[in-house]
Amino acid sequence: MLNHFKLNVEPYFKAGMILFKHSKDLRSYLRGIKEKNGIPGFVPTMGALHKGHLSLIGQSRLQTDVTICSIFVNPIQFNNTADFEKYPSNVEKDILLLEEAGCDILFMPAESEIYPDDASKIRHFELGTLEKILEGRFRPGHFQGVCLIVEKLLNIIEPSFLFLGQKDYQQCLVIKKLLDLMNKNIKIVVCPILREQNGLAMSSRNLRLDEKEKNIASNLYKTLEQIKKNLAPGNFSYLKNEAIVQLELAGFSLDYLELAKSSNLEIVEDYNTDEKYVVLIAAFLNNVRLIDNLEVAG
Ligand code: AMP
Repeated sequence: MLNHFKLNVEPYFKAGMILFKHSKDLRSYLRGIKEKNGIPGFVPTMGALHKGHLSLIGQSRLQTDVTICSIFVNPIQFNNTADFEKYPSNVEKDILLLEEAGCDILFMPAESEIYPDDASKIRHFELGTLEKILEGRFRPGHFQGVCLIVEKLLNIIEPSFLFLGQKDYQQCLVIKKLLDLMNKNIKIVVCPILREQNGLAMSSRNLRLDEKEKNIASNLYKTLEQIKKNLAPGNFSYLKNEAIVQLELAGFSLDYLELAKSSNLEIVEDYNTDEKYVVLIAAFLNNVRLIDNLEVAG
C-alpha cells in the first residue's frame, strides 16, 4: 500500500543522481526539497551493494519523492578490527548500481565528516536488554555504534521514511528504539530479505565466500526452513540441537540459533499461538560471519 503519490520532482533530478560528501551541502539541498513538500526516504548502507540494498531503494522510490542512500562503513560498530579492515568496498560499482536503481541522492561522507574528533564518538544509548542478547551478546558495543551513526545520519537527513532490511532483524528493533529515544517521527519500513537462488541471504560479506562456500552457506536458510516446517509445541530444543550438529558437520561455527518473540526478541524455548516468533541464526563459515532469520508462526 503506497503512502504517497510520487510528486513531480523531475526538475531536481534531470542531472541524474547527485553525490554529496558534506553534510552541510546535503542539508541545504534537502531543505529546498522539503520546502516544496517533497517527502524524503532514506536508505543507510555500508556499501558493497547488492540486490538486497537495491530493493530498499526500490521501496523508497515507491513510497517517497526523493530517495537518499548513504554509504559509510562505520568503524565504531565493528567490534572486530579485522572484520572492519576486510569489509568489502567497491564505490564505482555502487554508484553505477544506485544510478541504475533510480536513487536520487548519494551521501558518502569521509570519516572526518562524521567523527571530527574523539568526543563525537562518545555517546551512550539506553537500549536495555535488546543490546545484550543475540547479536549484542556476541558483538559487544555493536548496537551502540549502530545508534551513533544512525542518529548522526538521521539528524543530517531528517527523512520521513527510513528503509531497513529484515535481514538485520535485531537492528530494526534497535533503530525503532533509537527513534523513540530521539523522539523522532520517522516511519520505519522493514523490507523482506532478498536471497540468492539457493536461499543464501544476500550480504556484502558473501563477497568473501567462494562458490563452494556460498553453497555451504545456503544451509543456514535451509536449516531455518526445516525448523519452521517441523516446529511444534515443545520441540524447539530438539530441532535446535539437531540443526547445530548438522551445521557444525557442514563446517559452520555457530554463535547462536534461537527462537525469540518477534516484538522484542525475548529468547524462548517454546512458543504459544498468541504471539509471533522468529528463528535467528549467526554463524561463521571460514572466518566470514553470516546472519539470517525466518519468521515462524506462533
Ligand atoms: P548494510 O550495508 O549491510 O549495513 O545493509 C544496509 C541495509 O540493507 C540494512 O537495512 C540491511 O538490513 C539491508 N539489507 C542487507 N542485506 C539485505 C538483503 N539480503 N535483503 C534485503 N535487505 C538487506
